[in-house]
Amino acid sequence: MSNMKLRLAIQKSGRLHDDSMRLLKECGIDISNGVNKLKSEASNFPLEVFFLRDDDIPQYVEDAVADIGFVGENVVYEKKKKIDVVEKLGFGKCRLSIAISKGENYTSAAFLQGKRIATSYPVLVEDFLKANNITAEIHEISGSVEIAPGIGLADAICDLVSSGSTLFMNGLQEVEPILQSQAVLVKNEQLSPEQQAILDKLLFRIQSVKKAKN
Ligand code: ATP
Ligand code: ZN
Repeated sequence: MSNMKLRLAIQKSGRLHDDSMRLLKECGIDISNGVNKLKSEASNFPLEVFFLRDDDIPQYVEDAVADIGFVGENVVYEKKKKIDVVEKLGFGKCRLSIAISKGENYTSAAFLQGKRIATSYPVLVEDFLKANNITAEIHEISGSVEIAPGIGLADAICDLVSSGSTLFMNGLQEVEPILQSQAVLVKNEQLSPEQQAILDKLLFRIQSVKKAKN
């Protein structure tokens, strides 16, 4: 019998943390979640859990510091790391959308031509602009993107939206969803057969949990 453990990276705190822990619990996996801990071991499954910033998870999985991760598709596709997306997890649902000031009239992506767009997702915005043959200035900012138009930093923003209330409170309207996102399980491209066998067991449980919810 091997004592190998699969190493899973999840968000340390934030919007994906609780649902990630809940999913493990629903899979029958017991993790003690000490506050401020970097990692934790499951007591009844060959799994070790690392608690990290969500933005760092694709890199850690590519580098095989973690074998698998739970992370938003928005982060996966922004980072463009060499990792495999294996399974949608059904939580963390949101969309990445372009928003502009309420008073303005948007009819197509051409509205953005020559404009300044503030976002934390420069790669995905660039992909969208290219696909629509638009040239615009992308201003990368790491947080509070929704205040950029109000302070004259940008003409439009591209940010994650779920209900839209944050946009509304900042005098913005959502005009163009560019990516639908939810949390997914990602894996390193070169898992050993032994690691893959543990992942297959975990996936079987995740799929059972998902089925039970439908
Ligand atoms: P970290 O400290 O880990 O970097 P963060 O501030 O980048 O955290 P959160 O705001 O906790 O991240 O969001 C984590 C993920 O939750 C997002 O990348 C996205 O996949 C998902 N998410 C779901 N709904 C929303 C929403 N309305 N706004 C932002 N993110 C959302
Ligand atoms: Zn983050």
